[in-house]
Amino acid sequence: MPAGTEGAHRRLGAGRPAGVGAHPPDQDGVRPDGGAQPRTLCESAVTRPATVAARLGAFSGPDLPDPDGLRSCVHCGICLPQCPTYQILGEEMDSPRGRLYLVRAAAEGRLDITPTFTRHLDLCLGCRACETACPSGVPFGRLLEATRGQIERRGRGPARRALETLIFGLFPHPRRLGPALRLLALYQRSGLQSLVRARGLLRPFPRLRAMEQLLAAVPRVGRLPALVPAVGARRGRVGLLTGCVQRLLYPQVNAETARLLSRAGWDVVIPAGQGCCGALHLHGGRLDEFRRLAGALAQAFPEALDHLVVNAAGCGSAIREYGHWLGEAAPAAALARKTRDVTELLVNADLPLRPVEAVATYHDACHLVHGQGIRSAPRALLARIPGLRLVELPESDLCCGSAGVYNLLEPQMADRLLERKVDNIAATGATLLVAGNPGCLLQIAKGCRARGLVVEVLHPVEVLARAVGP
Ligand code: SF4
Ligand code: SF4
Repeated sequence: MPAGTEGAHRRLGAGRPAGVGAHPPDQDGVRPDGGAQPRTLCESAVTRPATVAARLGAFSGPDLPDPDGLRSCVHCGICLPQCPTYQILGEEMDSPRGRLYLVRAAAEGRLDITPTFTRHLDLCLGCRACETACPSGVPFGRLLEATRGQIERRGRGPARRALETLIFGLFPHPRRLGPALRLLALYQRSGLQSLVRARGLLRPFPRLRAMEQLLAAVPRVGRLPALVPAVGARRGRVGLLTGCVQRLLYPQVNAETARLLSRAGWDVVIPAGQGCCGALHLHGGRLDEFRRLAGALAQAFPEALDHLVVNAAGCGSAIREYGHWLGEAAPAAALARKTRDVTELLVNADLPLRPVEAVATYHDACHLVHGQGIRSAPRALLARIPGLRLVELPESDLCCGSAGVYNLLEPQMADRLLERKVDNIAATGATLLVAGNPGCLLQIAKGCRARGLVVEVLHPVEVLARAVGP
């Protein structure tokens, strides 16, 4: 497959064995034991587009979970061993098949959106490992997002509502997140953080504690120019998405992305007014806000671009969904079709590479490997670097527990997954852990710090930048 197309060729159900995709959808209601149920999915909703108000059992439109998608699950269970929450809890209802059963039961009017229903859906990481494994092409991510939209529309309890207000009021808003991080830096440097940690003052507040532990040090952020011109032979013009978390917590990743792309012959356009891509909103089921942010992002970039380059897996995965949620004719969908992960563009770039003597291991961010189907480009990019020995990470595509803001909403499950990830990293003996998503970098760095494991946690672009030199 040519460079830059690995993710572009991602289709739902990719990897399905030949012939399996033709499996006729199960037309009848099905119990978990495989027996027939008398009621079927509401046919009036089946033929309606997602944006038209309708009813589907316990759900009401717009943005109903797609009945055909629900029916395409043949209950084979192939996805179960790939599901992190099923691996940890061993509960059918915390597996992809169990969650699909719940959503389908609600869609058929056999179940309401109860607290138990919501709990099993909340515990899902949205990692989409089940989608990669599924031979029937069940669009689990979209079904989950639509179902979460239904849960959000019903409203949340006061504690969850307060937490979501804090998270969604802060993280997707760089103008608010920036000052909040400056306060955090003050808290870190003043010695208050050491005092709070030594006395265990946040132990009774696990979610606040998870937030506090995530950041080691807040970096200083410089401004990027609006245009970084190509160096040498010009290949074309790309836009760079700077992201909300990436631009404030990993500004060096954006700066190095722009520098390396320009060295590879691309003019890099970096609009200062670009906002959030809406990834957190999509994964949280806040679909109206997601559409608004997607539309605004498309307006922020000029149309005359060869590619939109993204260096945060969660953002890239959400942007590639613009066509589904906004319609293929929307300007945002055109931007989505141009979207490439930075490793797809740099993997074959003509760059002078010096040796980097280190042992590295690569963690597959869920929204890169499962959300965009990008597995080989980052590995090939790292393999090109002389001196760098790449050791395969056991369970490299098992979620680290970050999953957007999952580690803040569900810190216990996130910590159990992080423990497992750090065990696997320690077993490789690597001194560099490489991952293409800021959430994973934060989460894994936190786990390594807590374990006392001396491992540098870096984005692939940072490793490549070391090889290219200043
Ligand atoms: S998205 Fe991830 S956590 Fe959720 S059901 Fe699928 S594999 Fe399990
Ligand atoms: S989601 Fe796919 S892999 Fe999982 S049980 Fe259903 S058909 Fe099988």
